[in-house]
Formats: sequence, structure tokens, C-alpha cells
Amino acid sequence: MTRTTADARQADVIVVGAGPAGASAAYHLAEAGVDVLLLEKSAFPRDKVCGDGLTPRAVRQLVAMGIDLDAPGWQRNRGLRIVGAGHRLELPWPDLASFPPYGLVRTRADLDEILARHAEKAGARLMERTSVTGPVVDERTGRVTGVTAKPVDDRGRRIGEEETYTAPVVIAADGVSARIAIALGLERRENRPMAVAVRAYYETPRHHDEWMESWLELWDGKPGASNLLPGYGWIFGVGDGTANVGLGILNTSKAFQHVDYKDVLQRWLSHTPAEWGFRDENRVGRIGSAALPMGFNRKPHYTRGVLLSGDSGGMVNPFNGEGIDYALESGHLAAETIVQALARPEGPARERVLEGYAAALDGAYGGYFTLGRVFAKMIGNPTFMKQATKYGLPRTTLMKFTLKLMANLTDPRDGDVSDRVINALSKVAPAA
Ligand SMILES: Cc1cc2nc3c(=O)[nH]c(=O)nc-3n(C[C@H](O)[C@H](O)[C@H](O)COP(=O)(O)OP(=O)(O)OC[C@H]3O[C@@H](n4cnc5c(N)ncnc54)[C@H](O)[C@@H]3O)c2cc1C
Repeated sequence: MTRTTADARQADVIVVGAGPAGASAAYHLAEAGVDVLLLEKSAFPRDKVCGDGLTPRAVRQLVAMGIDLDAPGWQRNRGLRIVGAGHRLELPWPDLASFPPYGLVRTRADLDEILARHAEKAGARLMERTSVTGPVVDERTGRVTGVTAKPVDDRGRRIGEEETYTAPVVIAADGVSARIAIALGLERRENRPMAVAVRAYYETPRHHDEWMESWLELWDGKPGASNLLPGYGWIFGVGDGTANVGLGILNTSKAFQHVDYKDVLQRWLSHTPAEWGFRDENRVGRIGSAALPMGFNRKPHYTRGVLLSGDSGGMVNPFNGEGIDYALESGHLAAETIVQALARPEGPARERVLEGYAAALDGAYGGYFTLGRVFAKMIGNPTFMKQATKYGLPRTTLMKFTLKLMANLTDPRDGDVSDRVINALSKVAPAA
């Protein structure tokens, strides 16, 4: 079918941003036969500052999208290796009915293009180099009826006229910038944790590591006999000759405001073994940094025809800084909600279904994110962290429990004791 230019700017749903949240939403909508426009300001492949780590929770969503994970380029891992307090502990991903038993690493330049093209193949109309400038609000009803956007070049410079795109429902999946949400007056909740993280790629013989490696302590020299640096580090082998290496610092840490993140990364890495290769001469590309909005730091997740998905709704897990899985899941949930809503006549009946999105998110993650917020506060205290590392790491059963808790990997039914404890705690904690 050929569309007129005006048609081309109309759809059942507009999705702003083609990161994991937007691509997941667009894919599931298109699969259900919904006409969806996916507007993305950059052109694929594009970089996104990230650790590139996908735990089984994210893998489950990739499986649900029908992504071919046997194709070359996916670096599989068996679990998490934790380094700290003189220990190195390897914890396999838990054996669960609800999640696959492996994780993956894939650069975001690859991952995001694969997901966006997959959504396009399913029927979503992807428009790259289309930068959304704001929501269009119907003054009479207060509802959002679309967005305005301008064509841009690869450097983000405007190259044409601003146009209006219309749809009865909009998904804001525009990441931590949250332009749409902010334009609608949804401010950041200051009492929710935030983190800043830096990362770089290095050529390294460790690129095929079967474990995602997490460092609970970063030393400025010999461990225990030098300065303890703020933050937590990771080394994720990408499988292409490089590893993604980085560190993050929570805003509950005293050092948060006053840190030169790139300097801390380089100081930490300069004391890792030379044969690992984490030195400037082996660095591929720049050192990048970005913020992680955690624990539902922007709410409500539904307002006036707009659903927030992924980072725009502050959906990074405060326990471990993962956000890709929650972006994929919330995009999926947004799509399912909208499919049901669009099957109702416009008006209160449809509205009730759309409002159910925010309630469903609260039900799924609200209690868990509240636990995460408490955890983020505790580990911001170096004394607590030191004791927890020292006494926790040697206890394998406790660490297995901690892995399930931090990665949010439990079976809802017929799980073991730790699954039941974590599920019960998440249930009784007030929603974030
Ligand atoms: C250093 C670092 C390391 C991290 N490591 C991990 C990790 O290992 N594992 C993990 O699970 N999570 C990690 N995260 C978190 C993860 O990167 C995010 O949670 C995830 O990218 C959120 O996905 P999203 O789709 O919501 O947003 P994004 O991935 O940010 O996608 C938003 C998209 O919207 C587009 N966009 C923005 N504004 C506009 C606009 N106005 N018009 C059109 N398009 C627009 C952007 O170009 C982008 O493509 C890390 C974050 C950081 C900063």
C-alpha cells in the first residue's frame, strides 16, 4: 500500500526512541497488527554508552521477540564472577523454569540495530534521523494527540522542516533524557537512586570470558594496601577481541558529586594485570559516561495518552544497574496494554485499560524496586559494604541467594526457599 505524505505521519501508535524499550514495544505492536511509527533521532548502527550485559531476564525477552540467538556475534555466559575482599566467586545463573540458564553480551551498536530492524521487519515503520521535539497536546481535552519532530543529520543538526505526527497513543521510550515526560511536567523524583557509570572497550585476551565479572572493590594499587576507589566495576567479554570494562557510582555514595569518573576508571585499570590489556594503547574508541535512572524515578507511567517505558520512566534496577531487561519488558507490557485498549471504543473504557499499564508496572516491580532503594542506600555506606563483602562472599549459599535477589531471577511458583523469600519480600514492600 502506498501512503500519502499526510498518512505517513499518522499511526495507531507513535513510539519515541528506538532503544530496547521502543524496539520491543514497536515489535510487539506490529506483530499484533497495530500500525506503529517508530521515531528515532539517530541512524543505526549507533553507539549507546552501556555495559552491554544481558542477564537471563533480558535473554527471556529476546527469545520472546524471536531473535536468533544462535547467530554469530552473541557472547554467551554462564553466570557472574564476583571479585572482592580477596575472593573470586563464580555463581552460575540459577536453574529456573521462568528464565533461560544463560546470559549474553552484545555491543549496543549491534543489539539496538538488530532489535530496531526486527521491529521494522514485523511491520513497524521506523524513521531514523527523526528527532522528536515535543508532545502535541489537545488544549480542549488535555490529551496528547501526537508529537512534533524534525529531520536531522548524523550530527543531530536540523536538515528540514518540523512536522507533526499524530496518533491516539504515544509511547515515550526516549531514554534518560525523558524529553516527552518532562514536557508533560513529570519531574524526576529526587528521593530515588541515580547512578553514573563510565565504560570503554579494550582489546584483551579476556574477550571470551564465560562469566560476567563484577568487582565489589576497586583499588588504586595493591588490594588492601592502597586507596579504595569509589564505585563498583565490571569486565564483560564481548567475544570480538574486546571487553567492555566500566564502573558505576551510586548517588548514595559520598563521592558521587566529586568524582572524575574517567580518572577513577583509568586508575583502577592501571593496576590490573598488564597481560589483560586494559591500558590506553589497547583502548578502542572513547571512554563514555551516562546516568542510570533507577527505582521508578519518574512517575506516573501513564498519563493523558502517553505511556513511559524503560529509562524514561526510571526503570533501572537499583540492585545492579540493569536497565535493558526492564526496558524490553516494559515495552512488551506497553504493547500488550495498547493492543487491548485499541480494541475498546475511544473514551473511558479505553482509558481504564491504558491506566492499567501503570498499575501492572507497580505490581511487577514496585515492591522489588523499593527493596532495591534500601539496598542502594546501604551500599552507599563504605563500612557496610566492606563488612558485607568480607563476611558475605565466603558464604556460597548466601551469595546464591544474593545473586537471585540482585538479578531479580526467581520462579513465581514451585521455586526453592530463596525464591519464596524474595517473592514474599517484594510483595510486602510498598510499591516504589
Ligand atoms: C555506563 C552504563 C552501563 C550500563 N550497563 C548496563 C548493562 O550492562 N546491562 C543493562 O541491562 N543495562 C545497563 N545500563 C542501563 C541501560 O543502558 C539502559 O537502562 C537502557 O539503555 C534503557 O533502554 P531504553 O530503551 O529505555 O533507552 P535508550 O537505550 O537510551 O534508548 C532511547 C532511544 O531514544 C532515542 N531518543 C532519545 N531522544 C529522542 C528524541 N527526542 N527523538 C527521537 N529519538 C530519541 C535515543 O537515540 C535512543 O535510541 C547501563 C547504563 C550505563 C549508562
